[in-house]
Amino acid sequence: PPLEQLYVHESVDSVIPKWAFVEAFDGLSIPVELVGDDREYEETDGVVSYVPRPEYLNAGWVHCARAGYDEFDTEAYAAAGVPLTNSSGIHGATVGEVAVGFMLSFARLLHVYRDHQGRREWYTPEYERPFTVEGETLCVVGLGTIGEGIARRADALGMDVVGVRRSDDPVPGVSDLFAPDELHDAIADARFVAIALPHTPVTDGMFAEDEFAAMREDAYLINVARGPIVDESALVSALKSGAVAGAGVDVFETEPLPETSPLWDFEEVIVTPHKGSATNRYHLDIAELVKENVVRYRDGDDLRNRVA
Ligand code: NDP
Repeated sequence: PPLEQLYVHESVDSVIPKWAFVEAFDGLSIPVELVGDDREYEETDGVVSYVPRPEYLNAGWVHCARAGYDEFDTEAYAAAGVPLTNSSGIHGATVGEVAVGFMLSFARLLHVYRDHQGRREWYTPEYERPFTVEGETLCVVGLGTIGEGIARRADALGMDVVGVRRSDDPVPGVSDLFAPDELHDAIADARFVAIALPHTPVTDGMFAEDEFAAMREDAYLINVARGPIVDESALVSALKSGAVAGAGVDVFETEPLPETSPLWDFEEVIVTPHKGSATNRYHLDIAELVKENVVRYRDGDDLRNRVA
């Protein structure tokens, strides 16, 4: 049956302004309504939500407002025959810029100067410490939308970019591709290792003690994907022992990052509060994806970003 109604669950408000998001659907062929948890769904309903809810399995189609849909039970959607789509494909520039920002800061010491600025200090670092990202090697692990977004930008800055993915499809800006079982070879020579993987049973804890040991001691880890891909206590140990030089981290095992986390305290760790995708037009980017799928659903075409 055709879609008659699109519901926006209020949970989207944790990343985008819910009313601006609803307004972004002005002129859509079906009505759009903001809803909370007090609702049943039927086959003629589409739902956009940030969080999973069991009652969505009665809807006609569900769109996860995030790219990482790891909290949604894809098997249950497949079993119920309800298509689930996600918001992949729109984070190349947003998350890519954050990753590049981390690298530029570590190289040019912007974070260090800013810390000293808070104390009105005209700080001069050790001569050996600053460097340029130009000429340095970056290894991007996971080469989808975000990985490519990072790779293209790093390439434009004159970095040598290598990458890891399961398929061997070439990626613009990436000079050398490694398979997942070659991860240690791929990261061994890199000054920066950027994680842009989905969180899956396979990638859970993929970066732990052995990976930090395989990295250069002057290397920086960047995680803009999902917290549990990195064993956080192993990262803290590696930072303490000097197995790695620093980390730019946007995502954590527990969010918000607990006040007691040691990660807050390292000078060479930049903590950003899961804001890789945050821009003033994020709601429009997500609405574009959803609108495209409303049209595809109506026309009986394959939905874009179908993940179950
Ligand atoms: P994509 O699906 O476009 O890309 C993921 C890539 O990872 C794929 O191209 C895939 O390539 C590769 N991959 C998957 N599994 C493995 C594996 N085991 N080993 C190596 N490579 C693998 O997703 P996005 O780039 O849009 O997003 C990636 C993740 O980033 C999301 O899942 C989400 O969790 C996170 N994210 C974080 C945000 C933030 O605010 N910080 C915002 C948005 C997303 P191949 O198939 O060739 O292996």
